Amino acid sequence: MNLSRIFCLLILSFFSWHARSSCSICLKNKDKSFRTLRCGHCFHEDCIEKWFENHETCPLCRSKKHHSKRQVNNLLYQSLSSLDDGYDIFYDTKYIIHTLVKNNNLKALKVALNMGFNVNSLNEEFFSPLHIAAILSRTDALALLQQAKGFDPHTKSKKDIQAIHLAAGLGNIKFLQQLLMYGIFDIDEKDAIGRTALYFASYGEHIKMINYLIKTLGASPFELMNSGESLVSLLIQHSKVLSINHLLALEENLLDLLSKKNLQKILRIEGLVQSSKAKVLNKFKNLNF
Ligand SMILES: [Zn+2]
Ligand SMILES: [Zn+2]
Repeated sequence: MNLSRIFCLLILSFFSWHARSSCSICLKNKDKSFRTLRCGHCFHEDCIEKWFENHETCPLCRSKKHHSKRQVNNLLYQSLSSLDDGYDIFYDTKYIIHTLVKNNNLKALKVALNMGFNVNSLNEEFFSPLHIAAILSRTDALALLQQAKGFDPHTKSKKDIQAIHLAAGLGNIKFLQQLLMYGIFDIDEKDAIGRTALYFASYGEHIKMINYLIKTLGASPFELMNSGESLVSLLIQHSKVLSINHLLALEENLLDLLSKKNLQKILRIEGLVQSSKAKVLNKFKNLNF
């Protein structure tokens, strides 16, 4: 490679660097505050605000439907003020999607999602809008989130808890069904501790949900926690009688995962149905205590 070629390459790389780091409206460096549009192009905040007063396309790629911040706030204000509740929210647009899901403000939620607010962002409590929808059983809001660009049904909260875990823990079958309609799920997906949707449903003693998870979705009651403990032994520790009775009625082999100590404890739990007791006693017999 001769010197003039190297020189040319240096010049070219300088120009491509300059194009990336300068605003193509004023052609100056982007040293002050700038904004990246949904198309990926980036301009000075002031320059692009001025541009959007007369245009609604990106100055570089001409992609459509961009708005100035002022327009966004106006639109939000219009849709929010047309409703009786939830006024104090449009002042802070950072967690606007979360707030609109929480308030079940569907009209405004639709507007905000179309504007491209991040649908998966976590708030200060590490909840995404999806987590909030799951906690509050907002199925209509869920339907809107599911249509939003870039929506991730697997968004993780603290301890890797996902919406499937929350819906299961609250026994909300309708929400879970709708969530599973769009997206691929492993129903035995675990959180950071190793808890599955079935664990959450069993802990909450939601029998219908337990049935739905095992019989319809094929969830496994044999999954172990990170600590190596089984679902049933944890339920025994917490005396979750309803779930223990139910799981043992569905799957007798669960007793195989229990230790001698577990088996003795289970017999002492009040409310254990006769058939479960019989199974435990039978298990003792097999173990030759
Ligand atoms: Zn500029
Ligand atoms: Zn563009």
